[in-house]
Amino acid sequence: MATIKKTALVIGAGTGGYPCAIRLGQLGVDAMLVEKANPGGVCLNVGCIPSKALISATKLAHKAQHAANMGVTFAKPTIDMKQMQSWKAGIVKKLTSGVQSLVKGNGCEYRQATAEFLGPKRVKLTYADGKPEDIVEAEHIVIATGSLPIVIPGFAIDQKRIVDSTGALDLDHIPGDMIVIGGGYIGLELGQTFQRLGTKLTVIEGLDRILATMDKDLGDPVAKQIKADGGEILTGTKAIGWREEGGKALVKVETNGQTREIPADVVLVSVGRKPITAGLAIEKSGVKLDNKGFVVVDERMQTNVPGIYAAGDVVGQPMLAHKASHEGELIAEIIAGKKRVNDVRTIPAVVFTDPEIASAGLSRSEAEAKGHKVTEGKFPFSVSGRAMAIDETKGFVKVIADADDERVLGVHIVGPEASDLISEAALAIEMGAYVPDISLTIHPHPTLGEAVMEAAKHAIGEAIHIANAKKHG
Ligand SMILES: Cc1cc2nc3c(=O)[nH]c(=O)nc-3n(C[C@H](O)[C@H](O)[C@H](O)COP(=O)(O)OP(=O)(O)OC[C@H]3O[C@@H](n4cnc5c(N)ncnc54)[C@H](O)[C@@H]3O)c2cc1C
Repeated sequence: MATIKKTALVIGAGTGGYPCAIRLGQLGVDAMLVEKANPGGVCLNVGCIPSKALISATKLAHKAQHAANMGVTFAKPTIDMKQMQSWKAGIVKKLTSGVQSLVKGNGCEYRQATAEFLGPKRVKLTYADGKPEDIVEAEHIVIATGSLPIVIPGFAIDQKRIVDSTGALDLDHIPGDMIVIGGGYIGLELGQTFQRLGTKLTVIEGLDRILATMDKDLGDPVAKQIKADGGEILTGTKAIGWREEGGKALVKVETNGQTREIPADVVLVSVGRKPITAGLAIEKSGVKLDNKGFVVVDERMQTNVPGIYAAGDVVGQPMLAHKASHEGELIAEIIAGKKRVNDVRTIPAVVFTDPEIASAGLSRSEAEAKGHKVTEGKFPFSVSGRAMAIDETKGFVKVIADADDERVLGVHIVGPEASDLISEAALAIEMGAYVPDISLTIHPHPTLGEAVMEAAKHAIGEAIHIANAKKHG
C-alpha cells in the first residue's frame, strides 16, 4: 500500500467530476480523478446521451409515419431494435472513451478505483483488478459521486420485467405494453420513446398531474400527445404491487381507494433519484448530510469540512448534467485560488418529450410569490410560419417579466426545438436583460426563434402576429 500526496482528489468521473478534473489540470493543480465504474457517469453511460440517441431515432420513425400531411408518404418503418441499440452504444463508447484522454491530456492523473474515506483528508483507493490498495492524502477533496434511482416497495428491479431507467435504455425489443410508474421527466421521455415505436403506454402518477413541478400549461401538451398516441395517464394513482400471469406483469394500482390490475410486458419504475454516499464511508470525512442524504454545501460548494467540496447530483436539485459540470468547474477554480461563488441566476431545464419542454428562470407563480407584479407574453407555434413549414405547430413560448421595469424573469417554451431555443432565454436572464433587449433584437426569418421575440413583444403589448391583450404604450 502506497501513500500518494496530491493537492486535489476528485471522486467520481461523471459530469460533475471530470470537468472539475480537467479544469484542475488546466489550472496547473496537481490533481487525481478516481472513478469506480465507466468514466462519464450517468449522463454519458446511462442517462442524457443514450436516452437522447433513442429519442431522436424514434422521433424520426414517428415523424416519417405522420408526414402524409406534407405530401410525403413512407412505408411503415421497420425497426431493428438491436441495430438501434448498437448505434446508441457506439455513441456512448465514443464519448466515454474520450473522457480519460481529455483528463490526462489536460494534466490530471486518472485512476480506475473505488474511493473510500479514511479521514477528512485521507482516501483509500481499491482497485477492481486486485492490485494493492493505495492511500491518497489530499489538501482538497471533491465529492462528485452522483445519484441512483429510488426503488419502491414491491417493485424489485430485475432489469427484465421491472426495469429502472438503465434497464429501459437497454431493452432490445419493443414491449407490447409498458407501465411507467412516475410522471417525471425521465419516465415520460423513456415511455414516449417506446410509445413512438408502437408500445401501449400507461403512466401511473400519484399526484394530480404529470410533470407536477412545472406550471400546468407546460405539461398539458405532453399529456395530450401521450393520449393522442393511444396512451393512458392515471393521475392520483399509486402502484402497490404486481404479480406474474400469462407471461405479463399484472400491476395492481389504487385510485381513490379502488384497486385494479393493469397488464404490462415491462414496468419502468421512475420515481426520482437519491444521492450516492454509500460505499464512500463519508462519515469518516466528517461531512454533513441533510435529512435526505444530500451533501450540504455553501455558495463556494464547500462542505462543513474545510477543503472538502461537492458537486452535481450528490448536492441535490436540480439533478442535471449542466448544473453538475458548472459546479465541478467552479470548484476547480476555487481550489486554484480564484475568488468565485455559485451565483447563477438560472439553471435551464429541458424535458425531451414530444413536444419538448424547456424552462429558464421563474414561472409566473414563482415570480408572483417573490412579490413581482407580472406581465406575461405568450406566442403560440400554431401561428409561426416556420413551425407550420416543419409541420410542428404544438406549443408556445411564454415570457414572464416584471411589469414595472420589464426585466425578464422567466421564459418557458413548449414545442419544436424548445431544447435549443431556451439558451437565448438563459443568456438573457443571466445578463439581466429587459424585455426590449429580446424584442428589439432582430431574429432571423423564418425561424422558430422568432417566437421568442414575438412572446417578448406580446409581454409589452407590441406583438405583430397575434392580438395584444394589453395596449401598446
Ligand atoms: C435516463 C436519464 C436521462 C437523463 N437526461 C438528462 C438530460 O437530458 N439532461 C441533463 O442535464 N441531465 C439528464 N440526466 C441527469 C444527469 O445524468 C445527471 O444530473 C448527471 O449525470 C449528474 O452528474 P454527477 O457527476 O453528479 O453524477 P454521475 O454522473 O452519477 O457520476 C458520478 C460518478 O461517481 C462514481 N462513483 C460513485 N461512488 C464512487 C466511489 N466511491 N469511488 C469512485 N467513484 C465513485 C460513479 O460510478 C459515477 O460514475 C439524466 C439522467 C437519467 C438517469
